[in-house]
Amino acid sequence: MSLSGKTRVAGVVGQPIAHSMSPVLHNAWIAAAGLDAVYVPFGIAEGRFAAFVQGLRGGSVAGLNVTLPFKGEALAAADEATSRAAGAGAANVLVFRPDGSILADNTDGLGLLAAFAEQAPGFDPKTGPVVILGAGGGARGAAAAFVEAGCPEVRIVNRTLAKAEEIATALGGTVRAYGLDQAAAAFEGANGLVNATSAGLANGGAIDVPLAATPEACVVMDMVYKPLTTPFLAGAQGLGRRTVDGLAMLIGQAIPSFEAFYGQTPPASVDVRTLAIQTLGL
Ligand code: NDP
Repeated sequence: MSLSGKTRVAGVVGQPIAHSMSPVLHNAWIAAAGLDAVYVPFGIAEGRFAAFVQGLRGGSVAGLNVTLPFKGEALAAADEATSRAAGAGAANVLVFRPDGSILADNTDGLGLLAAFAEQAPGFDPKTGPVVILGAGGGARGAAAAFVEAGCPEVRIVNRTLAKAEEIATALGGTVRAYGLDQAAAAFEGANGLVNATSAGLANGGAIDVPLAATPEACVVMDMVYKPLTTPFLAGAQGLGRRTVDGLAMLIGQAIPSFEAFYGQTPPASVDVRTLAIQTLGL
């Protein structure tokens, strides 16, 4: 890689940031496209995010991806937000415009829908209810994306019912809240089921829900991508359900991010999925 006086800089900000896959994906695309550009990880201490972002209004950086724990602050730091970011209540993309203003966007939902389109061909969010497990940032973004895609009913199932109810209130009439003990009722007639809890991360096991209560045609997705086939997905596959993995979502959110930062579609010649699998040791 050679850097010139005109190198276009973008990056990802989070804490911790060392293990982010975004620099691997974006720099592989930059190299393949032969761009005079670079994508840098920024590890910013909590409490310093707003000052960091405000300092970039000068235009030295084209844009940022934002990851935990700063997605909410990113939305608040921007002058304008897309309806996707406003609906999700969080931004994973900030674009620094030439006039010094900041636009917030959220491509996580696009990534989620792209993952379903790629790995579950024929899945149509418009044709029936979907269920989302969890009520954190990932769940709210997913719910907003399904609402925007025309899903007739989004059911949020969460251990803490009040947090599911908050999302339902924020997103309106097509979103309904359920407690974890009501999961079987929520699964009835569902077209899709997304695990957006961090349960598997904490204890290494699958979240305990009655997957057998989902219809046979229900497509089951897990946002977690390490391991690629999580215990939750393995359980769904054991019941014969079609499944979608979190790595497809990660790549799916990176593509529109790259377009926002570098003004072009990433080159299709790079097999970023294989690259990510090798880098993550999956
Ligand atoms: P949050 O911490 O904001 O939310 C976590 C949710 O998981 C909460 O609703 C919490 O419930 C629930 N939860 C945690 N532990 C348990 C448990 N033992 N039993 C039941 N529920 C539990 O996380 P995020 O929304 O930011 O992320 C969720 C997951 O999605 C993470 O694993 C993250 O890595 C992944 N993710 C993947 C992306 C991708 O591109 N593939 C993008 C975004 C996220 P409660 O409210 O009751 O505490």
